[in-house]
Amino acid sequence: MQEKKSLGKWVIARFQHETNTFSPIPTPLEAFNPLWNQDAYQDQENARTAMGAFIQIAKSENVEIVTPVCAFSNPSGTVNGKAYERICNSIVDAVKQGCDAVLLDLHGAMVSEFAVDGEGDLLKRIRSIAPNTPIAVALDLHANVTPAMVQNCDVMVSFKTYPHIDMYETGLHAGELLRDMLQGKIKPSMAYRQIPLLSHTLRSNTNEGAMKAAVQAAIEMEKKPGILGISILAGFSLADFHDAGMSVIVIADQHHPHFSELENQVADELQAMILSQADGFIYQSIPLSQALNTARELTQLATLGPVLLLDHSDNVMSGGPCDTTDILEAALQYGLSNIAAGPIADPKTVQKLIQVGLNQSVDIELGNKSGWTYRGMRKQALKLTGVVKAISDGKIKVTGPIFNGSILNMGPSVLFETKEAQIVISSERVEPYDIAVMTSLGIELQSKTYVLLKSRMYCRPVFFPFSKGFVECDSDQGGPTSSNYDWFDIQHIRRPIYPLDVKI
Ligand SMILES: [Zn+2]
Repeated sequence: MQEKKSLGKWVIARFQHETNTFSPIPTPLEAFNPLWNQDAYQDQENARTAMGAFIQIAKSENVEIVTPVCAFSNPSGTVNGKAYERICNSIVDAVKQGCDAVLLDLHGAMVSEFAVDGEGDLLKRIRSIAPNTPIAVALDLHANVTPAMVQNCDVMVSFKTYPHIDMYETGLHAGELLRDMLQGKIKPSMAYRQIPLLSHTLRSNTNEGAMKAAVQAAIEMEKKPGILGISILAGFSLADFHDAGMSVIVIADQHHPHFSELENQVADELQAMILSQADGFIYQSIPLSQALNTARELTQLATLGPVLLLDHSDNVMSGGPCDTTDILEAALQYGLSNIAAGPIADPKTVQKLIQVGLNQSVDIELGNKSGWTYRGMRKQALKLTGVVKAISDGKIKVTGPIFNGSILNMGPSVLFETKEAQIVISSERVEPYDIAVMTSLGIELQSKTYVLLKSRMYCRPVFFPFSKGFVECDSDQGGPTSSNYDWFDIQHIRRPIYPLDVKI
């Protein structure tokens, strides 16, 4: 029996950040919780991430595995230059030692102080020291793909779901293409189209509308002989740099007699389809008063459960500080009551309330401490009077479908109760992707009339089953993750681009 030919040594790494260049939250090295070498391997060996998939493929091929780093940060502001260098250098140094393939689990929307095109610069450096080594990259669906990224790798595949649930599958897709390439079964070639469309995150839900149609078309076209993979990338619009926005990547096999024609034809077709439905990728915020009015009407529905108020002006998973209070303030002014809200991150207020203790009436100034400003205007803290009803260490074992089994750390947290609202105040920034962010502090969701969540998408799989309806709420005074581009002083994104300019 012929022995399986070894595929040598692979460098496998994870370096993920979605940079919101408008975010006031800094991104130092510690934000990534970087794990190096063997620690990175142990953390990712059985993880449902693209890196986890890369490791599984490598193990099944018996290759030598080198894992210089696993570094992941929640979205936040521009990445500190030294942090970027430190993590990049660890990957580049590993490649310098010699390897037969490089597999990277990247987000694809990183902006750093030293490298505006974070992923493009990293890939360029790797390619310059290992020009003939195959490189595979897995990306988030919200990657801002740049020409440098495409030119400096062989295989690039993104998620096909949002809310994201196919990280592992994406890694398998990219990793298996790379394996097949090393075995000489395929010879990938990529067509790339940068689309002049700055889509909104709220319109990149792959379960509805234009994004669903585009992803479904891509899945169908992937079945064509000679096509190896298709990615529809929504991009991330709150990164103010040249290449933000939508793109399409088509991978074809050069063994196919008309591969070049084929990949270009598919890419053109998908680009034309997306542009013909451009408005389907654009979200129009409605006035907050109108949203609150709709929410009140929805409470009349006979079905059980609260109405969800989804605040998309300040979301952790888009780089928000998790501490603006515009929607809560407006809801209280509008006369809504029996509200559950949060988490709102305000460590100083948590410390004060822990010192005060349970059931003592106290005045607080909640939130708006991270310093997000719009043209010099700074938001004011919300003055409230209430009592502390619960205190916790904020550590939660996630039972929902997103990040199932992991520990979500809210830091020391309290449940603060006023006449109209029960508010979870946390020490850490937390996107509510598990109901335990509220229930662990004693909130009974079913008994609430309204539940206010600082989340546009991640909350949906877990909170929708408990609710009778939802309303998307944008602040009338802007916010660091607002869906209204008017709030942002965009200077560097290439022009023309829709909807900043007229339709192209
Ligand atoms: Zn994403």
